[in-house]
Amino acid sequence: MKLDLQACSRARLSRDPRFDGKFFIGVLGSRVYCRSICPAPTAKEKNVRYFATAAAAAEAGFRPCLRCRPEASPGTPAWLGTPTTVSRALRLIAESGLDDGGVEGLADRLGVGSRHLRRLFLRHLGAPPSAVAQTRRLHFAKKLIDETSLPMSEVALASGFGCVRRFNAAIRKVYKRTPTQIRRLSRQAGVQPENQYLFRLRYRPPYDWDGMLRFLAARATPGVEYVADGHYYRSISLNGSDGSVDVSFDAENDALLARVQFGDPRSLFLIVERLRAMFDLNADWAAIAPSLRADAALAVRVDGQPGLRVPGCWSGFELAVRAILGQQITVKGATTLAGSLVRAFGRPYSSAPRLSHVFPVPRDLAEADLTSIGLTKTRAATIRGLARAVVEGTVRFEGVIAPEDFLSRLCEIPGIGAWTAQYIAMRALGEPDALPSGDLGLLKRLGISNSTELEKRAEAWRPWRAYATMYLWTVPALEGNNPGALSKSGSERTSEAAGEPGMPLGL
Ligand SMILES: [Zn+2]
Repeated sequence: MKLDLQACSRARLSRDPRFDGKFFIGVLGSRVYCRSICPAPTAKEKNVRYFATAAAAAEAGFRPCLRCRPEASPGTPAWLGTPTTVSRALRLIAESGLDDGGVEGLADRLGVGSRHLRRLFLRHLGAPPSAVAQTRRLHFAKKLIDETSLPMSEVALASGFGCVRRFNAAIRKVYKRTPTQIRRLSRQAGVQPENQYLFRLRYRPPYDWDGMLRFLAARATPGVEYVADGHYYRSISLNGSDGSVDVSFDAENDALLARVQFGDPRSLFLIVERLRAMFDLNADWAAIAPSLRADAALAVRVDGQPGLRVPGCWSGFELAVRAILGQQITVKGATTLAGSLVRAFGRPYSSAPRLSHVFPVPRDLAEADLTSIGLTKTRAATIRGLARAVVEGTVRFEGVIAPEDFLSRLCEIPGIGAWTAQYIAMRALGEPDALPSGDLGLLKRLGISNSTELEKRAEAWRPWRAYATMYLWTVPALEGNNPGALSKSGSERTSEAAGEPGMPLGL
């Protein structure tokens, strides 16, 4: 990736948070690398070097700054202008590191040679895959040292170092301090209860938190999730353990605050990554907005409500079940059914107020009698079909590297049409360019009559068609509209977005 040095320089001198995490600054004298927002005195232009990624700065021999903490910057934008192979590789590294199979294994999964992958990484990110994975491990370890009171032995395991010795050695090499010395430097707010962790997850402003909450609130599954007083709560289940999260907005720090209650610290990395994806925290608004503004129908919406994100999901399976439940009924009706499904087939959960269950796993639904909760026979068969496909491994929501293949496998399940599949892909895979092209709501709002015309018009929105979709679905074109009044009509309007004749309504 080629950095625009002038833009980097401007962002650095103005400490612009919109560029945070999009590039890093290496300072020649101190050999430290910084975020664009670093509060340290600004170095002279001739004494700095710019890097596209933290890993590239590390490869060039710079250490992460202890003041601005590069590990706390928002993540790499989902779309970098890099080849798809690179962005998919980054997604796989974020999901599981290079844990299984190293660079060879990663290249295999992407269907390219490992030398080719290495070359692509060097050209576009300035560092090989192994350095990207190593930086990821180190950054997460640093975050756990700073933000939690987890014993160092567990920090080592949770961040993927395998053993404490390797962890200690890596931290000392990079920071010239022991993990314990680093923790003493951090300003931790009081003692945290056992198994509870508070993470600050940065985004690049602006972020439309109210829009995100309204969308999630309208679709919250009773017992599993709820929205109250500006917080989003939900139960979670991962690698055989259950827990819960509480996510709120920290506008002052351009961050979301995630309070995670979970027994097994080894899952923390994955939990944080999933929350980042769910709340679309890696999005790069400065890159998205200009494309959308070029279309008059979007410009008025973008300016009226800047910072809208594409809501992801905690679990692709849960989202897919919810999407099927919503076919042909209202959002409210679908929510009621989802609540019944959870009460009948979910696992009881009692460690957080107002949460009573964790969402059923595929195995729980594969043979379940779903008509007992009031589902039609057809709909019940579709959900069972989906659950079986996930149990058998024909449909996977993690590590998806070929979205087209994912879509066609979903559509092979009787009762899942193109619209439902596209909707699931948009929210479960985090593809910023996803477009449910048959969506009637989109056609209506743009005043056009068919999907070919929509696809033509949407060319100008690329690679941000998912954001355009969200704007058209949830934000009315009128200026000065009371956003509070939107929540209801907005979600119902979305529910009209039925693409296939008689297809999904209550999504
Ligand atoms: Zn710094």
